[in-house]
Amino acid sequence: MRAYFLGVRGSTPAPGESFVRYGGYTSCIAIAHDDADAPTLILDSGTGIRRASGLLGNDAFAGTILLTHLHWDHFHGLPFFSAADRDDSRVALLLPEQPDGADANEVLSRAMSPPHFPIGPEGLRGKWSFSTLPPGTIEAEGFSIEAREIPHKGGRTYGYRVSDGDAVLTYMPDHCPSALGSGPDGWGEYHFEALDLAKGSDALVHDAQVTSDESAAAVFFGHAVAEYAVELGRRADARRVVLFHHAPDRTDDALDEVPFRFGPEPEVIVASESLVLEL
Ligand SMILES: [Zn+2]
Ligand SMILES: [Zn+2]
Repeated sequence: MRAYFLGVRGSTPAPGESFVRYGGYTSCIAIAHDDADAPTLILDSGTGIRRASGLLGNDAFAGTILLTHLHWDHFHGLPFFSAADRDDSRVALLLPEQPDGADANEVLSRAMSPPHFPIGPEGLRGKWSFSTLPPGTIEAEGFSIEAREIPHKGGRTYGYRVSDGDAVLTYMPDHCPSALGSGPDGWGEYHFEALDLAKGSDALVHDAQVTSDESAAAVFFGHAVAEYAVELGRRADARRVVLFHHAPDRTDDALDEVPFRFGPEPEVIVASESLVLEL
């Protein structure tokens, strides 16, 4: 599979000259099969999803969008995905099953409807379906996807393990492992769901909102430190760890310094908007 990193920022977009190399769009990854040009699976619809239209040429999007959770930085790009908002698109959007039993359309409408936004989800053009997803395994667009609930803050949050039968990409952009205890190194528990999702991954894409010298902020905002992400990858035998969901005030120069915190195993990549992984 091929993974296009379309938005790598967390919390809120970060435009400006100090952020041009890693990029300021919020969370979105588009995945294509090896033999296909066009992505058919999209993880999260942060503002980076706007860039997915550029991967499709003049074609409409036909595929599935999986949301890890409903926070703004994972959702706000949705109505601006022009290749999906057109009459000939086909989109299945899935989000975590809600503890209050609300259906997907209702949950999305809370943030996307007047007076917050001019239209509701039903106002998007094309053939859309909106559904909630219980934890477990599904097949979509020729991928096998495992969804597990992981701790975060404020709303049910999933991590996803995506396989094309050959390669595996694990996606946990927002994860607060310290919610389950401080763990062996103080960065949070290496709990079963996280280890199992990441086990043997070719790429573990993980929350690295903050660094270990800022760990109080990680706990407060419901995130992980970069050191936790790398150690999780090591414990789970992931081939590489992709540090993702950078804090909006982390400049290019600051991100350049992050890899020097780590040794050679596992390989550590600091996600940028120019990153395309062939797995
Ligand atoms: Zn986020
Ligand atoms: Zn979040």
